[in-house]
Amino acid sequence: MALTAKQLAEFVRAIKAEKASISKPQAIELVTDKQADEVDIAAKMAEQTIYHKLFARNILYAKKLAEALSKISAGKYGECEICGDDIDIKRLKARLTATLCVSCKEEQERMEKTLRQTGGASGWEK
Ligand SMILES: [Zn+2]
Repeated sequence: MALTAKQLAEFVRAIKAEKASISKPQAIELVTDKQADEVDIAAKMAEQTIYHKLFARNILYAKKLAEALSKISAGKYGECEICGDDIDIKRLKARLTATLCVSCKEEQERMEKTLRQTGGASGWEK
């Protein structure tokens, strides 16, 4: 654990602020207007689809932020999940939910790319 108590406190603050900013879902009007014509309804539905996608992503992100917080209390924050090395603090600041160090992340991305190029899981998932 290379992070100081002061740095950790800063991360806790940043993560909580991030959580607060995404946990407030913006109000969205439901299609309840009987007068709305089909175009309006289609537009509203498209809007809701985008909203739901964003919301789903936010839920996932909120979950990752919560995990980051529990890692902080467990004294594991900033540790790479694969090799156990310290994650660069600049990287953590840019990405509060980072769980891998740069080299493990690059390795993971390389593997994902290879999987995609070879058709990945799609071949045997059918
Ligand atoms: Zn690593």
